[in-house]
Amino acid sequence: MLKVSEELCIGCGICEESCPFGAIQVEDGLAIVGESCTLCGACVESCEVEALSLDITERKVQDDISSWNGVWVFCEYRLGELASVSLELLGIGRELADKRGVQLSAVLLGHETGDTAKTLIGHGADRVFVADHEELKGFRDDCYGAVVTDLITTHKPEIVLAGATAIGRSFIPGVATSLNAGLTADCTKLEIREEDGALLQTRPAFGGNIMATIVCESSRPQMATVRPKVMKELEFDPDRTGETVAVELTQKQLQSRVTLIDSVVAGAAQVNIQEADILVSGGRGLESEKGFVLIEELAGALGAKVSASRAVVDAGWIPYPHQVGQTGKTVAPQLYIACGISGAVQHVAGMQSAETIVAINRDENATIFDVADYGIVGNLFEVIPKLIKKIEERR
Ligand SMILES: Cc1cc2nc3c(=O)[nH]c(=O)nc-3n(C[C@H](O)[C@H](O)[C@H](O)COP(=O)(O)OP(=O)(O)OC[C@H]3O[C@@H](n4cnc5c(N)ncnc54)[C@H](O)[C@@H]3O)c2cc1C
Repeated sequence: MLKVSEELCIGCGICEESCPFGAIQVEDGLAIVGESCTLCGACVESCEVEALSLDITERKVQDDISSWNGVWVFCEYRLGELASVSLELLGIGRELADKRGVQLSAVLLGHETGDTAKTLIGHGADRVFVADHEELKGFRDDCYGAVVTDLITTHKPEIVLAGATAIGRSFIPGVATSLNAGLTADCTKLEIREEDGALLQTRPAFGGNIMATIVCESSRPQMATVRPKVMKELEFDPDRTGETVAVELTQKQLQSRVTLIDSVVAGAAQVNIQEADILVSGGRGLESEKGFVLIEELAGALGAKVSASRAVVDAGWIPYPHQVGQTGKTVAPQLYIACGISGAVQHVAGMQSAETIVAINRDENATIFDVADYGIVGNLFEVIPKLIKKIEERR
């Protein structure tokens, strides 16, 4: 907890200003700490009279940390298909498991999952827990949460990874809470610390301006989510062998407060920019919604999909499923063409893994050129029609 010394506090208000969460207020010459305090310690550092201190003596250390063993990946199976993020997580999971010298297990929930366990083994899993039941056909977070929580409690893996997808975001935090574990969401890098084997979980913080590395030293499991297209999947190896474990399900686990009436794929969800090989992306340089006609023409000529910066999504020129970036989607196409996009850090966070980046911007100092492989300085309304013409001539 954060302690305020009544003797030392002079009510100067510096701590109030330094608190990023607005958790401190000075009342009658004394700093009062509110419920939104996250124990970040910013106020302690700012206090010139050392009136504030963090008491972390109550931090509990689990006695049996060493009995938690293995890396687990929750593999998402929806509408009869494995989500690609599952294979990407197996890729990084394999790396972490090898560094720790432990097994990599996949957890698969669904109905009529067929050969999916074999696919998971071919992509790096040593063992696959398969919970196959018609009650798990559609996602219901209470059932999924109960099954995964019980499996983790029984087998005690040291690391659990899941996709930062609609499904992962919906039930994994509940699993972490039930297990009294922490959860680092939207990690962009995962590594093992040499000294003690702890998981280093790196993710953007403070609006993407810094990268924070989070370590969960004193309790297990260490849980993290990763967005699609951030990690790389391993090539399928048909000769890999592994174990498939059929999970015995209980009535209690399958009992749900939710009745699933129907699953409908929304139109917007069909715009899956994460699966595209080529993306033509538009930003505020398009000047208005009409500018997207040009972007669509270029995309049509290249057989590409259309994506966008947040500025134009916020302006209502194009719907949110097209947004690339920290609060949009992370993409890794073979070719990404950024048209009239300045290259803000939050945008770049979502597209820097593209194999080839082309930027069209009339400002030669635009930061997008720092990440671009090819840069075209010019007015996009002149450059794009010329590009389309060239592409069509080549056809
Ligand atoms: C917490 C947080 C999360 C965010 N998440 C995201 C996110 O997920 N994705 C995202 O994109 N942004 C995100 N942002 C917003 C981000 O900071 C930028 O504001 C946004 O990316 C800017 O979009 P833009 O590049 O289209 O617009 P601008 O920054 O306005 O850039 C427009 C560019 O177009 C160029 N231009 C203008 N006219 C022409 C022309 N005729 N021809 C060629 N070039 C031209 C200009 O030189 C300029 O470089 C986030 C911000 C915050 C604070």
